[in-house]
Amino acid sequence: MPRTVTFTVVPKLPPRLQPLMDIANNIWWCWDPGAVGLFFRIDRDLWTDTNQNPKQLLGAVSQARLEVLAKDDSFLNHMDDVVRRLKTYIESGTWKEKNPSAPEEFGVAYLSAEFGLQESISIYSGGLGVLAGDHLKSSSDLGIPLVGIGLLYREGYFHQYLNADGWQQELYPHNDFYNMMIDVVHDDEGNPVIIDVEYPDRVVKARVWRCRVGRVPLYLLDCDIDQNIPEDREITARLYQGDRDMRIRQEIMLGVGGVKIMRTLNLKPTTYHMNEGHSAFMTLQRVKELMARDALNFWESVDAVRAGSVFTTHTPVPAGNDMFVPELITRYFTKYCSEVGISLDQLLALGRQNPFDAREPFCMTVLALKLSSFSNGVSELHGVVARAMWERTWDGVPIHEIPVTSITNGIHIPFWISHDLAGLYDLAKILVDEKMPVQFIIAGKAHPQDTQAKELIRRIIHYARQPEVRSRVVFVEDYDINVARYMVQGVDCWLNTPRRPMEASGTSGMKAASNGALNISVVDGWWGEAEILGENGWSIGRGESYTDPNEQDQVESEALYEILEKEVVPMFYDRGRDGLPRDWIHMMKTAIRTICPVFNTNRMVQEYANRFYIPAAIRRATLRADDRKRSKELTAWKQRVQGIWSNVRFTNVESGQTENLFFGSILEVTADLYLDTLKPEDVDAEIYYGDLDSLGRIPKGKTVPMECIQTLENNVYRFRGGVPCLKTGQQGLMVRAIPSHRDLATKHEMALITWA
Ligand SMILES: *Cc1c(COP(=O)(O)O)cnc(C)c1O
Repeated sequence: MPRTVTFTVVPKLPPRLQPLMDIANNIWWCWDPGAVGLFFRIDRDLWTDTNQNPKQLLGAVSQARLEVLAKDDSFLNHMDDVVRRLKTYIESGTWKEKNPSAPEEFGVAYLSAEFGLQESISIYSGGLGVLAGDHLKSSSDLGIPLVGIGLLYREGYFHQYLNADGWQQELYPHNDFYNMMIDVVHDDEGNPVIIDVEYPDRVVKARVWRCRVGRVPLYLLDCDIDQNIPEDREITARLYQGDRDMRIRQEIMLGVGGVKIMRTLNLKPTTYHMNEGHSAFMTLQRVKELMARDALNFWESVDAVRAGSVFTTHTPVPAGNDMFVPELITRYFTKYCSEVGISLDQLLALGRQNPFDAREPFCMTVLALKLSSFSNGVSELHGVVARAMWERTWDGVPIHEIPVTSITNGIHIPFWISHDLAGLYDLAKILVDEKMPVQFIIAGKAHPQDTQAKELIRRIIHYARQPEVRSRVVFVEDYDINVARYMVQGVDCWLNTPRRPMEASGTSGMKAASNGALNISVVDGWWGEAEILGENGWSIGRGESYTDPNEQDQVESEALYEILEKEVVPMFYDRGRDGLPRDWIHMMKTAIRTICPVFNTNRMVQEYANRFYIPAAIRRATLRADDRKRSKELTAWKQRVQGIWSNVRFTNVESGQTENLFFGSILEVTADLYLDTLKPEDVDAEIYYGDLDSLGRIPKGKTVPMECIQTLENNVYRFRGGVPCLKTGQQGLMVRAIPSHRDLATKHEMALITWA
C-alpha cells in the first residue's frame, strides 16, 4: 500500500489575536460567559456550525474577518479582559493553601471511562461522563491537585436521529482530534509521550493527549497510532461498543495505562479515585509495581494499594455493573498471576462476592470495593440500594453496616446556568402570548440494543404527530450536552419519571433548578434529599416501592396528571395585574435557594476531599512511614487472623433478667469467646441489639462494645457489656466478634464476623 504522509495545519492568527488560541486551548472558557461571548462574537453562525468548538472556529474563520477583528478595539478589549481573567483564575489560591491541615504529599488521580466536558469533545455517553466532567471543573475551581485519566475515542458516542417512522438511527461521528481542544503531550526532547501496556502476547502502545480543564489536566489515551497493529488500534475506537473481549481490553488500557501515565509523566498521586468500576484494573497494576519497587509480597501490596484507593459506584441496575466470565480473566491475567505469585483462583476471588463460588463471574465493582478504603453511592437512597446490592461481599454483616457510604452528586453550576439567567425572569411576555397551555419537550437516547426504549421513542413520535397535540409534544433529537443546556435553561418545569430506585442520583433536575425551573419528579435519587413538599417543586408519589412495574407506571402517571392539572398549570397561569405569576416566582426562588447551594459539584468535590481523599492520603502516609512498617504489620496480622478465624467461636452467652426490665436500666450480658491463638485485643466483641422484624431478625441494630474481664482456660476469654434499655417494648440482642486492628480501613474490611 502507498504510504500516507500525515501533516497538521494550525490556524494562522494575526499576532494581536494570538491570545485567542490560549483561551481556546483551555476549556475553562466554556464556563466563563465573557469567553463564550468572545467566540460568539467572532462569527455566530460558524460558532454554531462548529458545535461551539473554538479551535475549529479559529481554523475556519476567514482571514479577512480576522484582520477586521485585529483592528477592532472593542473586540480587543473584550479579548484582553478574558485573557486577564483566565490568568487570574489559573493563579488563584489553591485548595491546599486554604486547607493547611492537608497532608504534605497530596494529589488525586481520577479515572473514568468517559468525560462529558463540552459538546465538541465527544467522549461521553451520558450522566456518568457529565458528572466526571463537572468533577474536574469543580476540582479546578477549588484548586484541588487532581488529574483526570480517560480514553480518547476515535468515534464518540452515537448521534441520534429518527427516521420517518420515528425509529432511532445511530450515527458514529469521527472525532477529529487535531481540531479538538486537546493537544499531544510531549516529553522533554519534544517527542510525543507514548506509554506501553502489556497484553498477553504483545505490548500495545498509546499516545497521551491532554485537555486543559482550568487548572486540572485530563490525560487521554489514544491507541490509534501507527505503532499498533490494526486490531489494537481498535481499543480506543468506540465508547461502550464491541464485545466483552473488547471491553476487557479497553478497561485494561484505562486502568493499567492510567497508572503508566502517572509513572511516565512523573506524577505521584496519593489517592486514586475510580469513577465506576471500569478502571478497577488500575489497582492490580499498582499492586504489581509496588511489589517490584518496594519488595513487598502480593498481600502486603494489596493493603498498601487499598490505603490510597477510593471508589464510587453509580449504577443500581445489576446489568450495568461490568462482569467478565472467568475465561476472559484467564486469557488476560494468567501471566499477571504468575508474575505476582498468586493463583488464578486467588485473583478471581478478588472480583467475586463469594470468593468460593467458582461460577461467579469476575465483577469490576467487587474488585473496586475490595481494593478501596472508601466507597460510596451517589445519593442517600442509592447508598441504601448499593449496600443491599453488594451485601454478599460482606457475608454476615448487617446491611446498614456495610462500608459503602454515600456522597450525593451535584452539577458544576457555572457551566450549566444560562448566561443571562436574568433574562429568564422577564420568564412573562412570551408566556402571555402563548396560545397553548402546556408543551412537553422530550429528549433522550435509547441504547442501540434496547429495542424496547426505541419502541417507546417511536410511540412518542407517532403520538406527537396527531394534529391535536402536534404543537404540544416535541421530541428533540440527539440529546447531548448542548441540547441539555438549552433544555434546562429554557423550560419552566423539569419532569423526571424514573422507576424508583433505578435512578442512582440524577443530575439534570439540578441543572434545571439552577436555572429556575421547577422539578416534578418521582421521589428517587437526589430528589428524595432535595424536595421540600409543596415549596420547591412537586413529587410524584411519596417514595413508595412497587413490585409490579406496570402498576407503578399506572399509579404514578395518574399522580402526575393530577399534579399537572390541579397544581402546576393553575399556578403557572395565576397572574397578577402585572402579568406575573407571583406564587410561581416565589416557588422558583425557593427552589434556587434550597437546591443550588447543596446540589453542586463544588460541594460534592469538597466532600470527596474531606471525607475520602484526605483521609486516604493520611492513611497511606501512615502505613508507608518507616519503610512501610505498619503496612507490613497489618498484612501479617490479617493473614494470621484469616488463617484462624474459622476457629473463633462463642462457647457461652449469658444475660441478666430479660423480662420486665425497667426503662433506663442496663441489661448485662457476658460471653465466653474461644480465640485460638488470638488475643482479646485482636477482636471487637460487641452486643448488637434493636427492634425485631417479623422474622425475628434485627435489621437496623445498634452496637455496644464488650470488655474482656477474665481469662478463662484453653484460650477462652470472658467479655462483658451492657445494653441500655432506652426504648420500651420487645427487642432483641445478639453477640458477635469482629477482627480489630487500628490500621484497618473500615471496621468490616476483612468481611469476617462471628455471631454467637
Ligand atoms: C446531565 C446529563 C445527563 C444526566 O442526566 P440524569 O438526570 O443524571 O440522568 C445525561 N446526558 C446529558 C447530555 C446531560 O447533560
